[in-house]
Amino acid sequence: METQKKLRVVLLSSPGLGHLIPVIELGKCLVADHGFEATVFILPLQASRAEAEIIESAMTPKVLNIVELPPPDLSAAGLDPNAATATRLVVTMREARAAFRSVLAAMEARPDVLIVDLLGAEYLCLADELGIPRYVFVPSNAWFLALLLHSPTLDKETKGEYVDRTEPLEIPGCKPLRPEDVVDAMLDRSDQQYHEYVQGAGKIPTGDGILLNVWEDLQAETLAALRNEEFLGRVVNGPVYTVGPLTRPVRPVGLGKELLEWLDKQPSESVMFVSFGSGGTVSAEQLVELAWGLELSQQRFIWVLRQPIVKSLDGSFFDVGKGDAGDEVLSFLPSGFTARTHGIGFILPSWASQVEILSHPSVGSFLSHCGWNSTLESIVNGVPMIAWPLYAEQRLNATLLTEEIGVAVRPKVLPSKKIVGREEIEKLVRTVMVEKEGHTLRVRVRDLKSSAQKAVARGGSSYESLCKMKEDCQMGIHHIKKSH
Ligand code: UDP
Repeated sequence: METQKKLRVVLLSSPGLGHLIPVIELGKCLVADHGFEATVFILPLQASRAEAEIIESAMTPKVLNIVELPPPDLSAAGLDPNAATATRLVVTMREARAAFRSVLAAMEARPDVLIVDLLGAEYLCLADELGIPRYVFVPSNAWFLALLLHSPTLDKETKGEYVDRTEPLEIPGCKPLRPEDVVDAMLDRSDQQYHEYVQGAGKIPTGDGILLNVWEDLQAETLAALRNEEFLGRVVNGPVYTVGPLTRPVRPVGLGKELLEWLDKQPSESVMFVSFGSGGTVSAEQLVELAWGLELSQQRFIWVLRQPIVKSLDGSFFDVGKGDAGDEVLSFLPSGFTARTHGIGFILPSWASQVEILSHPSVGSFLSHCGWNSTLESIVNGVPMIAWPLYAEQRLNATLLTEEIGVAVRPKVLPSKKIVGREEIEKLVRTVMVEKEGHTLRVRVRDLKSSAQKAVARGGSSYESLCKMKEDCQMGIHHIKKSH
């Protein structure tokens, strides 16, 4: 009997942990469950300790290759020093294209398929040069994808700023989007990041298909709209494959001894985990309110604490909390906070083993910035959330989680101060942890946890979707070979 040759997939991750983590997980899944050979190319953003840790844990055991591309020289790119993070990411990707092209051409074994993440749509043409199928992996949800794919049309049909509109934005077949929930890139249409976003959105559907980090039952209606040929289906060239939830596995030794011992002593589902993703921070004033809110709620908590953002002279915010901050972050807390919450709260400066914390039986809720990876990690562990969006597509995610999926509550912002007050935080922490409404959220998230488990298991919708993608790949390879 003829044994089939393994398909060699090359995956490319744009910089940032929110992309790197799900791209690695996709690569691992293609190897472990679908018999591919995988190489993941990465562009390190800041060579942080966290990034190194993620790469190392993805390599033990080594099921795929991870290759770091040389950092591109941005000096000739004419990048505005004040450019938004998203612009910097897109430009970094653009400038790395030549290096990736040479690496691809020099690969000993020619790849059979290319998968890039949503910031890599400009790389699809490199697959054409090799004559191989190419896909875009969007590590987010279907509503975001619908907005993204509809953005070039919105751009043509809408006058003025989206945020100044009084009516929601219509996305064919999907829940309309409130102007205040648009993604960051759509907040200012004169900014470079908006142009990059619309341009990128136009390229995504030109691949052979889109892989999405959700599962069918999570967003059935929106997925139907994406595939409806009358509406968004007109812009999507190939299939939309649902491949999620792809989340990092829990490592047996992931939690430090002190934290594990503390968590093991707490009652079941009694601890709230507070974290704003890989780089999110809040203002100093907000940090104080959050501390008071947690203390007043009298609930147990683990808080990944970062230095607050500071206001620059031109009024924009920039993040000073990216580095590996030490105990000096404690100085931003209200006086006496750590002493008063001793034994009730656990503070971790900068970074935590998030999936290990969320999977611990003592953890009962998650105050999260609603990054899509964090959202999925909460759902697969059956943990309800307080949705506290900060940037990117997180406001949209927060609305999805509270109004459609039903696994989160969202705090009200004080309009006069643009922050969430301590009373509101106290109230919501108690709502999720001890009130009836929290119980309803918990029941719903547990249902979703089991639906997610079914989706990724053999025969489940996401498993089958990747089988179909593999079949389509093989057909594509066959087709391309024949036409050459
Ligand atoms: N993460 C972590 N520890 C932290 C902060 C973040 O392990 O202290 C991981 C988290 O589990 C998730 C990823 O980093 O997998 C963050 O991705 P997400 O999409 O939630 O947000 P982003 O950081 O991209 O805004």
